[in-house]
Amino acid sequence: MTDRKAEPRDPRPLIGEPLSLDLLNTRWAGTPVNDLLGEPDGYRTWLSSAGLAGRCEAGEAGLAAVREAREALAAAVRDLDEHGAAGTAATAGLNAVLRHGRLRRELGPQGPAEHVEVDWPEWLAAWLAVDDFLGLLEQGAHRIKKCAHEACILHFFDTSQNGRRRWCSMAVCGNRAKAARHYEKVKA
Ligand SMILES: [Zn+2]
Repeated sequence: MTDRKAEPRDPRPLIGEPLSLDLLNTRWAGTPVNDLLGEPDGYRTWLSSAGLAGRCEAGEAGLAAVREAREALAAAVRDLDEHGAAGTAATAGLNAVLRHGRLRRELGPQGPAEHVEVDWPEWLAAWLAVDDFLGLLEQGAHRIKKCAHEACILHFFDTSQNGRRRWCSMAVCGNRAKAARHYEKVKA
């Protein structure tokens, strides 16, 4: 797994989700929608926040690649939510990113090792994010969730024992929903 360190310049409301969902969470609610990947500096911040700064260069080509990966991931997560599986278009989008790289296994001096190889270096972050998504699908697609608050567009991987996590953050969206319910009751 990637080595995550707190990135003080990261303005996002939710960080620390698995890499694929962390990439989706570079967009968050606002008018207009906030987008950390709206410009190269934000991309640099995301790489640092995701623990990839040492492995990926923060250039325009890499930014275009992760934006493409994010589109494919967003489509796949939407399909999962609505139909329980990624549709044809989303699957093609994810596979198009995956075709830029592969895992190479070898026996090294410290034992078995795995290396990611990509055709062009700018595809590394995008490839890692989509590869991470495949790992989440293997662990349980039903645990990939969108925050239940209707105005929130954040995603998380539900690792709670009973699988009942509903909010990106109880402190923010959970309480907003509770307050809204209370208001409805008082009004009624
Ligand atoms: Zn939320």
